[in-house]
Amino acid sequence: MKPLIAGNWKMNGTLVANESLVKAMLDGLAAQAPGADMALCVPAPYLAQLQSLLNGSAISWGAQDVSSHEKGAYTGEVSATMLKDFACRYVIVGHSERRQYHCESDALVAEKARLALAHGITPIVCVGETLAEREAGQTEMVVKRQLAAVIHAVAHCTSEIVVAYEPVWAIGTGKTASPEQAQQVHAVLRAQLAAATQHPERVHILYGGSMNAANAASLLAQPDIDGGLIGGASLKAAEFLHIVASAR
Ligand code: PEP
Repeated sequence: MKPLIAGNWKMNGTLVANESLVKAMLDGLAAQAPGADMALCVPAPYLAQLQSLLNGSAISWGAQDVSSHEKGAYTGEVSATMLKDFACRYVIVGHSERRQYHCESDALVAEKARLALAHGITPIVCVGETLAEREAGQTEMVVKRQLAAVIHAVAHCTSEIVVAYEPVWAIGTGKTASPEQAQQVHAVLRAQLAAATQHPERVHILYGGSMNAANAASLLAQPDIDGGLIGGASLKAAEFLHIVASAR
């Protein structure tokens, strides 16, 4: 299975900046045969732009959230059908910033994952503990609870999800989990997937949290780290491509 390196632009970008960033990435890729699958998850208003820039390239695109409703009176929400209209391959669900600032529960995240799959979009399901939870020895319990809700909702489609372990204390902070700390949690998640699907090895388990050009190789060398979900470093073409090149 090829590693997957997915960028999460968060709420960043302009039409002008996106175009030069994506063009720099595509130019860089022309000189480097990628050993990894790649994706960029961008704000919803830019999906049409990314579709036109990336169509036919080695980079897939996706969104950062999806509604848990099919359609209707949900002002401000974006449905899975709408994401499909822009040929999204991926959607991030349960990012810690959604759980924290938008009070998303495990059940809501699970419903979003189920709906995405039902529309042929691969959900990148984020799980991760806060610093307080880690210090209280609750890391395993928290990530297993978060993943269990999704497994319960998607059932026999579990092997089709992507999981991203993102310790909340490492996101956007410059603090990275050590390769050993990350591997330990990834192994727990793999074992949980093994109990739920016959093909746990088919599920990419990404690491996310201040991954950058300097630390990517040692994280990606771990046996259960199958790629990365990259925030800040996905806004710089050279940094993102360096991470891609580390994933072989
Ligand atoms: C993220 O937003 O998913 C993330 C991992 O951010 P950063 O790489 O900036 O820590």
